[in-house]
Amino acid sequence: MRSIRSYFLQYLLVCMLLFTAAFLTYRLVVEYPREVATIELHQLRELTSLQEGLRLNQHHLSNVVRDWAHWDDTYEYILNPDGGDAYIRANLISGTFDTFELVAILLFDHEFQLVYGQGYDQRREMLVPLTSVLAELPQDLLFQGYEAGEALDRVGWLATQQGAAGFALDYITDSMDEAEPAGYLMFIQLITDEQIRGLEAVTRLQIKMQPALTTIRLSDIEPLHSDRLVEGYQKQRLRVLQDVSGRPLLLMEITHDPLFDPVMLRTGDVLMLLGIVLTPLLLFFIADRLLLKPLKLHVEHIETMVSKETMEEFPVAMPIWELEQFRLAFNRSVHLVDMQYKRLLYLSQTDSLTGIPNRRAFDEYAESAWRRARRVEKPFMLAIIDLDYFKAYNDSLGHNQGDQALRKLGELLHGFTRRASEFSARLGGEEFVIVINGLSAEVATERMEALRQAIEGLQLEHPDSKVSPVVTASIGLVCVEKPSQAYRTVKLSFLLEMADQELYKAKAQGRNRICARHLSLSADYSLLK
Ligand code: GH3
Ligand code: MG
Ligand code: MG
Repeated sequence: MRSIRSYFLQYLLVCMLLFTAAFLTYRLVVEYPREVATIELHQLRELTSLQEGLRLNQHHLSNVVRDWAHWDDTYEYILNPDGGDAYIRANLISGTFDTFELVAILLFDHEFQLVYGQGYDQRREMLVPLTSVLAELPQDLLFQGYEAGEALDRVGWLATQQGAAGFALDYITDSMDEAEPAGYLMFIQLITDEQIRGLEAVTRLQIKMQPALTTIRLSDIEPLHSDRLVEGYQKQRLRVLQDVSGRPLLLMEITHDPLFDPVMLRTGDVLMLLGIVLTPLLLFFIADRLLLKPLKLHVEHIETMVSKETMEEFPVAMPIWELEQFRLAFNRSVHLVDMQYKRLLYLSQTDSLTGIPNRRAFDEYAESAWRRARRVEKPFMLAIIDLDYFKAYNDSLGHNQGDQALRKLGELLHGFTRRASEFSARLGGEEFVIVINGLSAEVATERMEALRQAIEGLQLEHPDSKVSPVVTASIGLVCVEKPSQAYRTVKLSFLLEMADQELYKAKAQGRNRICARHLSLSADYSLLK
């Protein structure tokens, strides 16, 4: 059979596992994916705002280009470039490049042929030939697929000698935008660190740009401007910025806002798990302290009681009300059993007629008294008292009267042997026995003589006694004056037999008298053998 402890532990363990599993399942299947989805959405917004930021930069450039391209001065210049030195000198100057942070301005005629191109070195702040900005002219990239004279405007990115750059291109017309496109104006602006920092501030991303010359296979990397913005949650991701023809231009290493890392188990979750594990353990500890241990103690107490064949109250107060009630009830039943036991003991050791100890009580008492006498080597006396002619007493006065007389004798003996060292019992019939400890043979014999006289003194009329008009008794007495361990072979039954022999002598010598025998090992050695 299993203990409540093991049941308790088992159920706690099962509960613990179930709760842990439920919590982890909820956390990992419901909450965590939700968190990841939230973060993915957040990252998507970050990437979208990066695209938007770049688009705004270009939008700004494209507005400037439009302003210039739809300006009569530019229109007139492109119609007659040969006579337009003044336009070039007045407008394609350092100030213009500085103001709009440009590295090149290109003018094309309506058939896409370069009419004028000017480069600018932003670092050195000086005009440079176009070729030191663009290694080759980008007509093929810009105009492929368009028809000459088309009203086209576009933005995009391209590589320059000074680095990756954005460009804006617009068709040239008059200020009213009524004339046919007469050519095209193009502004090229470097992607500057400042722009990147601006984008970082707006998007909260960290952006590192590298020229797309690395050994990484750039074709595997997602372009920044693609529909698939987020390939799931990632702390960092790579994007390529493509030039106008779709070739990788810049490799962008994008680090997302770290505030939003999804974590499978946060500190709170770990604490929660700890709680799930520790709470049942705490419960078990409490139950063990308050319930199981006290119960175990109680069971041990009962087992000790059973092995010692005694009934004892359980003394330790229980910590729980119900258990305490159980203990009190148990103690009450112990008390009851104890009382019943004492009553039984009393009944089993008491003579029902006279109320003094019976033969069984005598046997128990005398055995241990005789043993103690041998141990402490103090005198031991045993006397059998037998009423004289008691059959005749019964015969003449009736059995009831006989009982009455026996009761009187019981009372007398009870009063006579009040001392702790003296003991009286009814052996059976009209025979009684007295044990006296510690008195010399002489004194003990005197006490028996006093008893004999006291019986006479009861003055119980005995019409048919041949020795006296009242009830008398004969007493056979055996006295061991100097007992010791050497007497251990002398059994109590032997002493009783000797006392009986003395009684027989007293009867034979005429009754109502005492016959005594002093037993000493040296004298009675032969007898003992
Ligand atoms: P003796 O002087 O030799 O001792 O003669 P006795 O008659 O006393 O001895 P005996 O052993 O012949 O008879 C004992 C009598 O004691 C027999 C019985 O009637 C009586 N007796 C024994 N027990 C009881 C008892 O419980 N009540 C009464 N009323 N009489 C009892
Ligand atoms: Mg008798
Ligand atoms: Mg008798």
